[in-house]
Amino acid sequence: MAYHDHLTGIPNRRSFMDSLSSEVDKANKWNQRFALMYLDIDHFKNINDTMGHDIGDQLLIQFSNRVQQSINKKGVFSRIGGDEFAIILPKLINDEEAKIMGEKIVNALKNPWQIEDKVFQTTSSIGISIFPKDCTCTQELIQKADESLYKAKAKGRANVQFYS
Ligand code: GH3
Ligand code: MG
Repeated sequence: MAYHDHLTGIPNRRSFMDSLSSEVDKANKWNQRFALMYLDIDHFKNINDTMGHDIGDQLLIQFSNRVQQSINKKGVFSRIGGDEFAIILPKLINDEEAKIMGEKIVNALKNPWQIEDKVFQTTSSIGISIFPKDCTCTQELIQKADESLYKAKAKGRANVQFYS
């Protein structure tokens, strides 16, 4: 399980870093464009505080399943830590493609959750950086996806933002 997140079973941060490095190498070699998306649940702390940590855990599992269904094998999905996740969307034709995927995910994540006897809704935010437009190096791509995520949070959450 060294490369998998113990709670959700999806690839973990370590696996993500390897995937991102390989994607940069591949995109350089074949002159491809790809998107890095950072995805985070809005006000997740409130869920833990009002419904308990166990419900929070179940939400993270259902959240992962739902995102994976939305991506439908078109990208590499990992849990970075806490309620923060990343998606690498390879072989982009244009940025619009990433925007459409981002909005599809944000919309899917607005649908109600049913966990034990509770039915409730949450929203999520996405920040996107683009290789090679925003950077050709892994660290700066991550930093710019993260900054875009902060921009999405600042703009009222439940939305998708690009770095540029
Ligand atoms: P924001 O809209 O700004 O993202 O607000 P937020 O409340 O979601 O804030 P943040 O993303 O910083 O909070 C993440 C919280 O996730 C904090 C921590 O208690 C909780 N958390 C981290 N890992 C786990 C976990 O494995 N299970 C559960 N239940 N909670 C976790
Ligand atoms: Mg959050």
